[in-house]
Amino acid sequence: MEWIRVLVAGAAGRMGREVVRAVCGQEDMELVGAVDRARVGEDAARVAGMEVTSVPIAASLSDTIAQTSPDVAVDFTLPDSVMGNVETALRAKVACVVGATGLTPADLEDLGALCQEMKTPCLVAPNFAIGAVLMMRFAVEAARHFDAAEIIELHHAGKVDAPSGTALRTARMIAEASCGAGVPTPAEPPARGQREAGIPIHSVRLPGLVAHQEVIFGAVGQTLTIRHDSISRESFMPGVLLAIRKVRGLKGLVVGLEGVM
Ligand code: NAD
Repeated sequence: MEWIRVLVAGAAGRMGREVVRAVCGQEDMELVGAVDRARVGEDAARVAGMEVTSVPIAASLSDTIAQTSPDVAVDFTLPDSVMGNVETALRAKVACVVGATGLTPADLEDLGALCQEMKTPCLVAPNFAIGAVLMMRFAVEAARHFDAAEIIELHHAGKVDAPSGTALRTARMIAEASCGAGVPTPAEPPARGQREAGIPIHSVRLPGLVAHQEVIFGAVGQTLTIRHDSISRESFMPGVLLAIRKVRGLKGLVVGLEGVM
């Protein structure tokens, strides 16, 4: 059986630790590298709450790629780091699975060009939960039939970016499906949310939450609410593992988990 050699960037973070655990549990994958700017030198598996694997967390992505020759690099760092990391991995011809959010449409355009130049694929998914992908798909379907929509996204208090990558992508997908934007007011107060592609997004950050989103559609005399809840970070792992298995068969940049489903 062919083993997939996996490097995890952001290995000491909440999502990175979950990915380390998931990868170590697969018969067709081997964790070969772990990178983070925190907990450098500690064993990645132990940091993830497992038995020691003798893969220490390293500070330098480029050095770790050179030393471990991974097949796939998984990035769950943070919005201010992800672009640089993915560029480093692609320039080393390592296929990338990107879960960190915060990439702008311009960043995605640049990554697409780099994928072409390096002839190396990359999958970027703002949400690896299968249910969230379906929530977005159902929202696109509903958008064709309703006049207006608003999004409420709710996440744990430690999330640094707002609105979430999932909410931004949902708004763009709804707008493309030609739903009218939320009811406009002449001068909107901040409480009306931040508009993306004309759709207001409301961000809630509270301890106790993981990752949740409601898309509320309105038309005369009726509303439709489509809601998805990730109640633990394990919800993202089947999607991440699927992406690790499929990414090397992709061409160029693919955005959204549906690209491999
Ligand atoms: P976190 O803060 O717990 O972890 C981020 C980790 O990245 C930290 O350990 C930090 O030290 C490390 N890091 C930051 N910059 C780095 C760099 N340049 N090099 C190496 N390591 C670096 O955050 P989290 O909750 O694990 O979330 C991580 C990212 O994943 C966020 O962008 C979040 O929005 C996103 N996320 C995506 C999904 C999805 O399904 N795509 C799901 C949940 C979270």
